[in-house]
Amino acid sequence: MRFNRRTVLIAGAAGAAGVLLPSVPARAARPDFGVSAYPFPLTAVRIGAGPFLDNAGRTQTYLRFLNADRLLHMFRVTNGLSSAATPCGGWESPSTELRGHSIGHVLSGLAQAYASTGDTTYQAKGDYLVAQLALCQRPNGFLSAYPESFIDRVETGQQVWAPYYTLHKIVQGLLDWHLLTGSSQALTVLERKAAWVQARNSRLTHAQRQQMLRVEFGGIGETLFNLYQLTEDPVHLFTAQYFDHAQVLDPLAANVDSLAGFHANTQIPKAIAAIRGFHATGDTRYRDIAVNFWNFVVRQHSYAIGGNSNGEYFQAPNRIASELSDTTCECCNTYNMLKLTRQLFFTDPARGAEFMDFFEKGLYNHLLGAQNPSSAHGHHSYYVPLRAGGIKTYSNDYDNFTCCHGTGMETNTKFGDSIYFFNGNTLYVNLFVQSTLSWPGRGLTIRQDTTYPESPSSRLTVTAGSGAIDLRIRIPSWAGGAQVRVNGTVTGTATPGSYLAINRTWTTGDVVDISLPMALTLEPTPDNPSVRAVKHGPIVLAGQFGTSNLTALPTLSSTPQPTGTPLEYTAGSVLLRPFYKTHGQRYSVYWNVTSTTPREARYLFDESSGTTTADATGNGWTASLVGGVTRTAGRSGNAVLLNGASGYVSLPAGILSGVTAFTIATWVRLDAAASWTRVFDFGTGTGAYLFLTPRSSSGTARYAISSGGSGAEQRINAPAALPTGAWTHVAVTHTGNLGVLYVNGAEVARNTALTVRPSSLPSTTQNWIGRSQYGSDPYLTAAVDSFRIHSRALTAAEVAQLHATGQ
Ligand SMILES: [Zn+2]
Repeated sequence: MRFNRRTVLIAGAAGAAGVLLPSVPARAARPDFGVSAYPFPLTAVRIGAGPFLDNAGRTQTYLRFLNADRLLHMFRVTNGLSSAATPCGGWESPSTELRGHSIGHVLSGLAQAYASTGDTTYQAKGDYLVAQLALCQRPNGFLSAYPESFIDRVETGQQVWAPYYTLHKIVQGLLDWHLLTGSSQALTVLERKAAWVQARNSRLTHAQRQQMLRVEFGGIGETLFNLYQLTEDPVHLFTAQYFDHAQVLDPLAANVDSLAGFHANTQIPKAIAAIRGFHATGDTRYRDIAVNFWNFVVRQHSYAIGGNSNGEYFQAPNRIASELSDTTCECCNTYNMLKLTRQLFFTDPARGAEFMDFFEKGLYNHLLGAQNPSSAHGHHSYYVPLRAGGIKTYSNDYDNFTCCHGTGMETNTKFGDSIYFFNGNTLYVNLFVQSTLSWPGRGLTIRQDTTYPESPSSRLTVTAGSGAIDLRIRIPSWAGGAQVRVNGTVTGTATPGSYLAINRTWTTGDVVDISLPMALTLEPTPDNPSVRAVKHGPIVLAGQFGTSNLTALPTLSSTPQPTGTPLEYTAGSVLLRPFYKTHGQRYSVYWNVTSTTPREARYLFDESSGTTTADATGNGWTASLVGGVTRTAGRSGNAVLLNGASGYVSLPAGILSGVTAFTIATWVRLDAAASWTRVFDFGTGTGAYLFLTPRSSSGTARYAISSGGSGAEQRINAPAALPTGAWTHVAVTHTGNLGVLYVNGAEVARNTALTVRPSSLPSTTQNWIGRSQYGSDPYLTAAVDSFRIHSRALTAAEVAQLHATGQ
């Protein structure tokens, strides 16, 4: 939000989605239309030790610290009451037109802190604020820290800074206070104020209202839809619809992205209001507006950290690398996008994995790291700069009070709101956060233990109660090789980008272990594929540049190498750490990546002659046939025939360089059964390598990888040697610490403790099919066909498919 007439902001608080499940339901609610998943009340989820609890603690300290009378000062002065309090500064100063907005954020924050902790300190403070606001409310219901003449100005097109935006914050704070504490006074003040909104806007023509809606008005439509759902009073529905802004909503309904040039955070609350409008009315046009908006923003307007906007405005679609500045990613925008995302989850949980992937991205990479950990009061960023050399800056106690300072108070008091959702007996586990869920009305308590994302795993334990639960565990789209165990036994197929379902009767003591291997990836920007963000699993890593104010993107010329500390890598002399932990120094999230050839290759060996063989992927990894290799009929087309004396295939140097997850798969027909031959062996010599032998001295097939010679090998031992005389499909997959060895499409062995991966090795130069790094080992006597390398771990189903289809 900024100081101009477009300025600003946001929609209301987390409690909005809790309308169906207020912890203190005050009245019968209208059921939401078109909803098939629900949030638990904040009272049901307790966050445990970890970064979210740390952030929450700092914001809670600030909420206790804030002086209520200072916040109330301009409400009292404006409404003819005496006040001896020191005025606030920043956007709450007596001369700032936006004054009064922060008290709404504080009420929402206090309500959420109270619900999350049960600490009555928050309740007493909020009750005091509500009682004092009631004294400032005019007979006609108007309640503000600025005079009603500001409304005259916005209605007549005169310049004024977003008066309805400010009013929205106050009404949302009152609604949250009512929903989360049961305060009837908050609802009374809110309904009187809503009646004023209705009276004021009903006097205007449709054209006058549409003209007025060009000025930022926040989420007042959302709050009014929510109030309608709560009270069943149809007046609130009509009033909410006064805020349907046709200029923005009509193109969205037509699925047209015309967002470029619009102030970003002015528009996001319109989409939130739209999805709540759908829930209130069943009008699918509202739903389409919200879904189309989400698709556009997430897919075409979002940076790697999940944020959007440059200089607060949406840019042309898919402009990211060309829009890196000090004013990217206003925090309110992501606060609001996450609100929209969870409403869309409730609406369409079948698409929930996609929604929650984005939620996780924005939560960890943008919002979690927008609070200053050095501030005991949780001071907050406004923009998060994404230019190279950017640095985060923060708010302060009383002289800032920006929009993002306000939404920061809300974000950091509701971390429990999206970890778990439910519908009947179905329980969605969306996020991997140390927490305890006490399922209201079921006597079931489930504890989640994790240090995610520092560890790529989480454990759920039923700590009290029993009963049927259709458990749905989110398997993130990035989590190839994910696995879920119930009481130690692998259960179901964990398909990335979906929910793994386990529908059974659970009892106290049942344990679910979730393994989510994280790989290093380089995420390209849509407008410049060589500009990339470095990620480990879902976590964006930032280069740490100290006081160096870079003038250009840093260059990444080789794959970052792990340091041994979780989530930390080095790129040359530069340390990469999670962006959410990056504070107090300059950084770069984006890099100019000079080598982008995918580490993927496929050799069909179908040439009829010559000493080279093409890479069928088009990546150009042409291989050489060395030492008298001939051709023979293959599993499909031709194959290479290795003679056991001197023939082998040599792949280009660096083909697995920097890879953290991979698959190597091939068809092989062994024509002799010697020990210690190699199907493949990629290395720099006998110090660093990875290989697959059909038969070790133990008599069984073995995969091994080592960065320290034979004494440091990490292995996967098969139960038998590979057979001779028959075409056999073999595959090795490796991701995270998991390596799996497959023979003929079926897993035969695994190792879950592999800590060495190709990225741990020097860039290998001796990448061979049929020859060992050890000169004394025999050459392979075999036909080899369809040899393939993937820079990710194929799933068991994908390996089975390769075998079944002869690929
Ligand atoms: Zn903001």
